[in-house]
Amino acid sequence: MSRTIYVNGSYQPYDQATLHVEDRATLFSDSVYEVVEIKNGNLIDQQDHLDRLARSLNEISLTPDFSLNTIPFIIRESVRRNRVRNGMVYIQVSRGVAKRDFIFPNPDMTPATLIIFARSSNFIAKEVQASKGIKVITMPDIRWKRPDIKTTGLLASVLARQTAKGQGAAEAWLYDENGFITEGAASNAWIINEQDELITHPATTAILKGITREGVMRAAKQLQLTYIERPFTIEEAKQAKEAFITAATNLVMPVTHIDGDPLNNGQSGAVSLRLRHIFHEFAQLTK
Ligand code: PLP
Repeated sequence: MSRTIYVNGSYQPYDQATLHVEDRATLFSDSVYEVVEIKNGNLIDQQDHLDRLARSLNEISLTPDFSLNTIPFIIRESVRRNRVRNGMVYIQVSRGVAKRDFIFPNPDMTPATLIIFARSSNFIAKEVQASKGIKVITMPDIRWKRPDIKTTGLLASVLARQTAKGQGAAEAWLYDENGFITEGAASNAWIINEQDELITHPATTAILKGITREGVMRAAKQLQLTYIERPFTIEEAKQAKEAFITAATNLVMPVTHIDGDPLNNGQSGAVSLRLRHIFHEFAQLTK
């Protein structure tokens, strides 16, 4: 089966789908994006992701020339054409193609660029990974001061993830100048204390307010687990009973080691796994 990618109004063969050299996404990362999980053919919490996309666009003063209401149709068609049952869909909007200039181009003359692609992922491999858990390392958070906006300016996160990989870990937890963990390079960070309370950084401008994070909060309420939004230090994390990360592509992924120090005897924690397994019961599914 040949794969296709939607670029500005047409579904192009994967090998031929291109962006203009002077697209503002390539020159300035003047673009925002979303990633939505696809589970058994359903889009998970699609509306929440589209609402966050609208917020990100608003934060960078980008008003696309198309209605965001068209996006669910393109998503659906992308999923259909690429026959994705389990995987993800990626949506990116940039400020369009214009002669390189830091100043915004005239929006009347510069249509926004919309890219959408859907891709399958190995759902079983993710489950196996969750049962084993992942290792994280900690690194200074050197990102810009607005990671609450989901922009494609991800170089600091790319470097952090690569460093993690180099040390045999799957994620880097980033800490601020006071030693508090903000979030992961591409996920939210959570710990669970001895009282089974879930702790995660508050949704300030210092983190991306994850849609999976919100889903875990809904699930926690149902399980009558308390969650607390407050910063926690690396030391507190290392003393935690359990830890996990959340992201649309990873759901709830247990953490077994922080900087090489084991948590829960280096095993995936029971509460984390329970949250993972019930997550979809509290998600909004779109056919
Ligand atoms: N934080 C960062 C920096 C991310 O890049 C992501 C996802 O890519 C998340 C958190 C998790 O967000 P979501 O649960 O909406 O995927």
